[in-house]
Amino acid sequence: MRSSLIAGNWKMNGSLQSAIDLVEGIKAGNPGKAQLAVCPPAVFLMKVGGMLAETEISLGAQNVCDQEAGAFTGEISASMLKECGCRYAIVGHSERRSHYLESDQLIAARFAMAVSAGLNPILCVGETLYEHEQGVTEAIVAKQIDAVLELCGIAGFAEAVIAYEPVWAIGTGLVASPDKAQAIHEFIRGKLAASDGDIAQRVQILYGGSMNPANAADLLSQPDIDGGLIGGASLKADDFLAIAQSA
Ligand code: PEP
Repeated sequence: MRSSLIAGNWKMNGSLQSAIDLVEGIKAGNPGKAQLAVCPPAVFLMKVGGMLAETEISLGAQNVCDQEAGAFTGEISASMLKECGCRYAIVGHSERRSHYLESDQLIAARFAMAVSAGLNPILCVGETLYEHEQGVTEAIVAKQIDAVLELCGIAGFAEAVIAYEPVWAIGTGLVASPDKAQAIHEFIRGKLAASDGDIAQRVQILYGGSMNPANAADLLSQPDIDGGLIGGASLKADDFLAIAQSA
């Protein structure tokens, strides 16, 4: 039986004070039903990590470098993230893919570095609106997962999380219908099962894309939707906790 994970991706929002307030709110109201994680901006990781020590709430980073150490200005290594107390690292978010032109291969390398440092990568996959309209969602998602399988093998997914995030749903207020999202989640699990049935059954597959307190319960009730990666609604403790309550 997989547990639910509700992870908040704060992106590049807020201030140190708003991050502190948000963590206080989440700690105070955690319904304790799902596993919770927050992914603050990197400069706030140490502070937020300290506030989460001795709680059940996990810390995650929004990205991780594909290299171990050295002359990679602006990057943050997996071991540094571990030192900050991170359990998770998001890799391959669509904003990284589209704004910073991160390729499937670079994302796979970031994923591999997270795994080798003992972080749990949250691999984001999903199709653009154009790809959605062309009906090639499964092919796109398969290609994004294949890049990781080629580099890390199925064993790389043993401690990983996958987030299916249709790009057209991220930050738009549009949301995939529960049955369509379920179908893609089932496809993803089936794809992993072709390599290893046990790992496929264990991997948490989250839905991301305009999840909010009003639509969360229907999405989270689907058999292969094991939680959510939440953007906008994770910036308000009440909304994030209401989603967690639905899990
Ligand atoms: C995201 O950025 O991962 C995301 C799901 O954002 P939103 O919830 O705002 O659509």
